[in-house]
Amino acid sequence: MARVQDILAQFQAKGVETCFHDRHIDPQIYAGLNGGNWGLKDYEARGGYQALRKILGQDGGAGMTQDEVIAELKASSLRGRGGAGFPTGLKWSFMPRNFPGQKYLVCNSDEGEPGTFKDRDILMHNPHAVIEGMAIAAYAMGASVGYNYIHGEIFQVYERFEAAIEQAREAGYLGKGVMGSQFDFELHAHHGFGAYICGEETALLESLEGKKGQPRFKPPFPASFGLYGKPTTINNTETFAATPWIIRNGGQAYLECGKPNNGGTKIFSIQGDVERPGNYEIPMGTPFAKLLELAGGVRGGKPLKAVIPGGSSSPVLPAEIIMQCTMDYDSIAKAGSMLGSGAVMVMDDSRDMVETLQRLSYFYMHESCGQCTPCREGTGWLWRMVHRIQNGQGRPEDLDKLDNVAENIMGRTICALGDAAAMPVRAMLKHFRHEFAAKIEAAVKAAA
Ligand code: SF4
Repeated sequence: MARVQDILAQFQAKGVETCFHDRHIDPQIYAGLNGGNWGLKDYEARGGYQALRKILGQDGGAGMTQDEVIAELKASSLRGRGGAGFPTGLKWSFMPRNFPGQKYLVCNSDEGEPGTFKDRDILMHNPHAVIEGMAIAAYAMGASVGYNYIHGEIFQVYERFEAAIEQAREAGYLGKGVMGSQFDFELHAHHGFGAYICGEETALLESLEGKKGQPRFKPPFPASFGLYGKPTTINNTETFAATPWIIRNGGQAYLECGKPNNGGTKIFSIQGDVERPGNYEIPMGTPFAKLLELAGGVRGGKPLKAVIPGGSSSPVLPAEIIMQCTMDYDSIAKAGSMLGSGAVMVMDDSRDMVETLQRLSYFYMHESCGQCTPCREGTGWLWRMVHRIQNGQGRPEDLDKLDNVAENIMGRTICALGDAAAMPVRAMLKHFRHEFAAKIEAAVKAAA
């Protein structure tokens, strides 16, 4: 197990930059946090709504066409911050241009991935960045109505967002003829009820329509058959919040904040066995060791054992692997995991991996919507096997069976929850099989 200081020294010896204090990052996404003021006047004082003015030509300029806005997003290399990391500009370009009827824009603020708490902070402290980002996206895709679907267990966030919408409407940034232009955009907040599965975009649409929140078969994809059967684009809260900065400063400038194919900055919710858990906005491509240092290092100076780098569904990585990674989609994928939502769970050497997996497996069993058999039954099998291993009743055949069940769930379900349940199991067995085997061996000995 690696010590943070040793790894940082290794980076420095190789000439890899491990300090970013001198790199200029416009704190657009997180700006409201330091000043503590989320309101319209403060947002405008930080340059808020200038990007919307710019595209509508309300700043004295020529304005921007829909294609020009989408081109800036493509140049920025902004990738969806909800977990999948799909290129945002490309997603916007999928929306049919000449569709004669209503098109919709939806913000996914149903932040339910265990360990993730960034969207909550963005909406509480910088809600206008999300509103402006949505207005820009709506303009680019020709949508005139938008919804923000907000997680059901954080009612203050819903109230804050409603208040911000009201401010924006009064100031002419929303509604009919935005800022005196020909562009109409109406935005509504919608309160979910806390089901994890409603963070899956088609389940979210079902829920928004007033139905049971269960994922739809795809295709058709939401860009052609979304909300109320109309073309719809869905992006995460942080993705929208990053958009105004890109339009104001240009896609290239945003790209250069991060690294190729991984543009800009990203908020990481780091937690677990660290001294200073919290949200940290850092450039994409920052070494994990630097993020850990920002969070005060491993609590009590203990050795690092493992990290779940992108929310509970992302495969766990042992210390020696994660300490060599940078925090971006490509580096974490190459290491065998996913950047996901950016929820970084840090575990010190006292953590029991069987117990950890038992908790994760219970969560996915509980949150399965029950539509498809491999997920509905398989998540229960996984949890029951891990539970018995943890409780001194493991059987020698359990390890292969666990892996087999997980393998047979993956890729055989309607939505990604099946994979989300299976991936942590397979990664735990890959990296920490000896801990599971030791518990089974002890159980067999005790029963003999
Ligand atoms: Fe529902 Fe699970 Fe199937 Fe997704 S994978 S549709 S959560 S049963």
